[in-house]
Amino acid sequence: MSTTKKTAVVTGAAGFLGSHLTDRLLAEGFRVVGMDNLITGNVRNIEHLAGNPDFDFIKHDVTKFIYLPGKVDLIFHFASPASPIDYLQIPIQTLKVSSLGTHNALGLAKEKGATFLIASTSECYGDPLEHPQKETYWGNVNPIGPRGCYDEAKRFAEAMTMAYHRAHGVDTKIVRIFNTYGPRMRLEDGRVVPAFIGQALEGRPLSVFGDGSQTRSFCYVSDLIDGIFKLSQSNYHEPVNIGNPAEMTILQFAEAILRITGVQQPIEHKPLPQDDPKVRQPDITLAKKLLGWEPKVSFEEGITKTVAYFRDFLRIKP
Ligand code: UDP
Repeated sequence: MSTTKKTAVVTGAAGFLGSHLTDRLLAEGFRVVGMDNLITGNVRNIEHLAGNPDFDFIKHDVTKFIYLPGKVDLIFHFASPASPIDYLQIPIQTLKVSSLGTHNALGLAKEKGATFLIASTSECYGDPLEHPQKETYWGNVNPIGPRGCYDEAKRFAEAMTMAYHRAHGVDTKIVRIFNTYGPRMRLEDGRVVPAFIGQALEGRPLSVFGDGSQTRSFCYVSDLIDGIFKLSQSNYHEPVNIGNPAEMTILQFAEAILRITGVQQPIEHKPLPQDDPKVRQPDITLAKKLLGWEPKVSFEEGITKTVAYFRDFLRIKP
C-alpha cells in the first residue's frame, strides 16, 4: 500500500452504501481499509476490489475493540443493518453496532486524530409531525416499537458523536440518510425498492403495505455518495440531510416499477407494519447551501439502472 495517500476506514464496507463509498474514496485517491462482519454485508459487493493495492478488507465486528496499526485520516461508520425486516430479526446487533460500534469507531478517530463521519438516518425523525423534515426537527420516535432498536441506536450514535466532538474535539460529521436505492441492494432485504423490482421481474404480485398512501422520497446511490463525500470534506459538525426530495406514494412507486419494467402484475395489499412512517421527504436546503450539493439522477434513470442490476443478478433477459 502507498503511504503518501490518505487512509480512510469504512465500517460496513461490504454493504450497499459502504461498498459504493469505498469505490468513491478509492477514485478520490484514498487508500481504504474496509471492515465488515458480513451479517448483512456481502463480499460480492467488494469482490471487484480484490488485488487493488489501495484496498484492504478486515472481517471484524466493530462492536468489539478496533485495533488498527498506522495512520488513519478519515473514518466512515457505515456498519448497521438498515432494513426494517433486518432489525426485527437482529434487534440486539442493530442496537449494538450503532451504540458500542459508534463508541469504538469514535475511540479510533480520537486515537488517530482522524475525522469521523457517522451514517445517521431519516429514522431519527420517526413518524414525522413536521413535513418535509428539516435538520432542526427533533422527531417523533417510538422507542419501544419494532423500529426503536434502529431509530434509538442511531439517535444515540448522533449524541455520542456530538459528545466526542464537544468533549474531545474530534472533527465529526453527521449525515442523515433518506431512502436510497441502487445496485448492490440485497434482493431479499425486504425494502420496497428491491422487493417491488424482484416481484415485477419474477412475475409475482407487488406487495403494497397498507393502502399505499404513505410517502417516501428515493435518492439514487451515486447522488447520495456524492453528498456524503462533500460533507466529509466540509467543516460542519451538526446533522445534514442527504436525500432526494422527489416524494411519491408507495402506490405511485409500485405503478412506476410496473411501467419501467414493462410488466403487468396485480398489486396485493398486505398489512402496514407497526410505526411505518406516513410521510418522509428531506428538506435539503442546508446541503445545497453548505455543500453546493443536490441530486442529479432522475428517478427514471436511477430505477432503470437498478432494474438492469437486478435483471443481471437474477439472470433475467430484458
Ligand atoms: N413497503 C411496501 N411493500 C414492501 C416493502 C415496503 O409497501 O414490500 C412500504 C413500507 O411499508 C414503507 C415503504 O414501503 O411505507 C418503504 O419501506 P422500506 O422498508 O423500503 O423502508 P422505510 O422507508 O420504511 O425504512
